[in-house]
Amino acid sequence: GKPVCECNACYGGPNCSQLLSNCMVDADSGDPTFLEPFWVKNAASSSIVVAGWHRMSYEFSDGSLISEELKAQIRKVHAKVGNAKTKGKYIIFGAGATQLLHAAVHALSSHDSASTTKVVASTPYYPVYKEQTEFFKSEDYKFNGDTSKWNKDAEDSSFIELVTSPNNPDGELRKAVLQSSNVKTIHDLAYYWPHFTPIQSPADEDLMIFTLSKLTGHAGSRFGWAIVKDEAVYRRMLTYMDLSTYGVSRETQLRVLKLLKVVLNGDGRQMYEFGHKTMRSRWSRLSKALSQSKRFSIQQLKPQYCSFSKQVRAPSPAFAWMKCEKEEDKSCHEVLKAFNITGRAGSLFGAESRYVRLSLVKSEDDFDLLLRQINKLVSDEESDD
Ligand code: PMP
Repeated sequence: GKPVCECNACYGGPNCSQLLSNCMVDADSGDPTFLEPFWVKNAASSSIVVAGWHRMSYEFSDGSLISEELKAQIRKVHAKVGNAKTKGKYIIFGAGATQLLHAAVHALSSHDSASTTKVVASTPYYPVYKEQTEFFKSEDYKFNGDTSKWNKDAEDSSFIELVTSPNNPDGELRKAVLQSSNVKTIHDLAYYWPHFTPIQSPADEDLMIFTLSKLTGHAGSRFGWAIVKDEAVYRRMLTYMDLSTYGVSRETQLRVLKLLKVVLNGDGRQMYEFGHKTMRSRWSRLSKALSQSKRFSIQQLKPQYCSFSKQVRAPSPAFAWMKCEKEEDKSCHEVLKAFNITGRAGSLFGAESRYVRLSLVKSEDDFDLLLRQINKLVSDEESDD
């Protein structure tokens, strides 16, 4: 079993078994610990032991910084799920999707000093796109906000459009918006796995980014990969990795190899079945709790056919994108905070403050506490009527 080391903020007492009534429920971070029970069940087969002498070198035995065996394993995982075409494409590893996003922006931006590439995304977008691009203050690219501002001008300048599908925060399956030969796209497919969305067809984009964080839940291993069509772009990303970190930790690569073996074990469906069942149940409980509310609403998602499970499936998004409907509730984040729920403010996603993102991917305890608070919120509303 898994030892209890510290209590969740909402539990106290000697065994963390006492539920506290006045605690802050954290629905802010997207830490995907909902998959922990699957890994507890598969503890033995997913373990690795690394002796002191093992993996000391910079290089693998073939002289590379990337495990060929792991690359092959990743191709198998995609083939099994049918979410991305990898044939004939290059694969590169990074310290999470976070590092790969920057490597990709670097690789796709114009290196001609006369023009600055505009980095854009459709609102609501994952906040890191803006934060990261602004933080690195490059002369080659600048963050330029929402794609809708640029539809007409896409001809005059070079663009990088970040496309997140399904989208963080609202779970929408998205396509690129800007259409021009000057627009390069980065497809962030972090959530394009059966836990979170129906799989429609294998994605076949020029540059696709995935992360272990959302596939197996091992966010702390800091492992992601990009699948790249064009060799020159791949080479530029490799240079970025060489000069920033000299590649991903070799121990991490070893651990990922082991984890993916478990993912592919047997019929290779067990983790996804567990993941989807968990997320679907959370979405249905949350939707039910909010169905009578006039003050709060969440995004509408329809059941859709999933080519992986070969059936029409109920929605199972990673986040709820909540809207405060009342005119006076201008900051939904503040409204929820007054009810002891911390979400992530809509303004960070380039959206209105009357939106807030609630994370549904944490542990079952975290979700139960969130639901308890939401139920209180809705019953307060009813007693006000
Ligand atoms: N892209 C999206 C859309 C995400 O939501 C996240 C994680 N929250 C990332 C990238 C970064 O993931 P990683 O842990 O691999 O850096």
